[in-house]
Amino acid sequence: MFVYYGRLVGGNISVRYLILSDIHANITAFNTVLDVVRGKWDKAVCLGDLVGYGPDPNEVIERVRELDAVTIRGNHDKAVTGLTNPEEFNPVAHAAVLWTRERIQPGNLEYLEKLPKGPVRASTFSIVHGAVYDEDEYVFGPEQAADGLLGAPTPVVFFGHTHIQGGFTLRGHDVATLQTRPAFPNESTTIKLARGMAYLLNPGSIGQPRDGDTRAAFAIADLENDSVEFWRVPYDVQDVQKRMTEAGLPEPLILRLSFGR
Ligand code: ZN
Repeated sequence: MFVYYGRLVGGNISVRYLILSDIHANITAFNTVLDVVRGKWDKAVCLGDLVGYGPDPNEVIERVRELDAVTIRGNHDKAVTGLTNPEEFNPVAHAAVLWTRERIQPGNLEYLEKLPKGPVRASTFSIVHGAVYDEDEYVFGPEQAADGLLGAPTPVVFFGHTHIQGGFTLRGHDVATLQTRPAFPNESTTIKLARGMAYLLNPGSIGQPRDGDTRAAFAIADLENDSVEFWRVPYDVQDVQKRMTEAGLPEPLILRLSFGR
């Protein structure tokens, strides 16, 4: 069987990729995002950390599976499955891992266990959870981004893990920080990619943004048309906070959603 994704734009097939990361068991944010972008994308990828922190691990995993997204593992996915020791996490993240382990369905746990490690290639771009050379490393600054940009398997790499929307560009040997500031309330900012440059791009976090903006963050990439849209979508933060309280999850994890930190 031959399956076509994409749409015809000016004589070219263009595939719009929905780029999801760090959903962190927040089905309220995830469902809101999927409603807003309905019909606007063709294929999905997920950069890991489906679980941890939030109250809905099973619902989020099942929704990602329904989307048939190309998905890699994050550090929280590994900690929940026991691939790494959650005692290396801070106490609240550790508590959330133990909480998740008690509630995750066997089939969903098995799905997490089988997730591949990045980098994984999806079409003309690649995806990693942390850094290109180390899935668990946080890429916060241009110095850390440089190695990944120079050794990237494709000119465009999407990464997550920091929960900060934006990224880095490389032209020659110059690394620059890319600022993205989608407006309120429900907006996207489009960047145009230039040929001959390399890009390390972070869609931001769906379930626990940490860049001071409480709205769920993600991206839509249309690389045939050299464009990446960075999106922010408001969701009902109090709804998920209420369920976190009922679930007995640690208070700092509940409060930080109100601040996007
Ligand atoms: Zn994360």
